[in-house]
Amino acid sequence: MQNSYDALAARFAHGFVYEKNQGIGFYKACSLELPGLRHGFSTREGGVSKGPYASLNLHWQKEGCAADVLENYRRFARGAGVAYEDMVIVNHAHGNNVLQVSREDRGKGFGLPPLPFCDGLITNDPAVVLVTSHADCGAFFFYDPRKRAVGMAHAGWKGTLMQIGLVMAEKMQRAFGTNPGDILAAAGPCICPKCFEVDAELGEAFANAFEPGVCRPGKPGKAYVDLPQCAAIQFLRAGILPEHITLMDACTFENPAMFFSHRRDKGVTGSMAAFIRLC
Ligand SMILES: [Zn+2]
Repeated sequence: MQNSYDALAARFAHGFVYEKNQGIGFYKACSLELPGLRHGFSTREGGVSKGPYASLNLHWQKEGCAADVLENYRRFARGAGVAYEDMVIVNHAHGNNVLQVSREDRGKGFGLPPLPFCDGLITNDPAVVLVTSHADCGAFFFYDPRKRAVGMAHAGWKGTLMQIGLVMAEKMQRAFGTNPGDILAAAGPCICPKCFEVDAELGEAFANAFEPGVCRPGKPGKAYVDLPQCAAIQFLRAGILPEHITLMDACTFENPAMFFSHRRDKGVTGSMAAFIRLC
């Protein structure tokens, strides 16, 4: 099992490209830099929020000043090359619920009432921009170039353990006739295996759900979990080909200049956002 996984893992792409547009920087997977698709994962630079939220905080609930977050999202949209009005944001619940959305859902969570609780979104409608927000949690980008459909998920440790990536691939199959072998998948910046310390019991739950290699022992009673590897394993289980998987390999915890980190900043921090859209 370990050996066969290692052979598959050797075929994953690693790394990212970093590009700035209109003062807003985005991490992107090279494999998704394709005609007909836009995607990216923001950094904390280029916004108007202050103090621990400085500066591009994209989480409505984390600071008192909604006007600042609104201005940050306007800048995010400009940098992403999308219309502010076309965005729809997940309504995080740290679960594995994935919703199909379309142009009728534009603006939900941005002034219009939010979607029902969900951590993943799928669509085949080029009029809508899927948005998720993150501060150590994984961002899963899915693109089916054959059926022209996309998916975007917020995968915290709970969503990772509940295999939201597997759920998202299944939903794309049912909704759009997606063949998982066609999906191009990427996992965005998140807390890395060196920094993600958990209670040993939780580490064991990850080892049982995925494979022993995702958990390594730490201090007494503690363990370290490899969330990107857990992401890749669920992508493989969904039928995604190893050569269609990219892990961006950027650690949110270790890079305070670029990223908010819930763990590092002890909860008093902002969020980055990820987006994907057909175009
Ligand atoms: Zn790290």
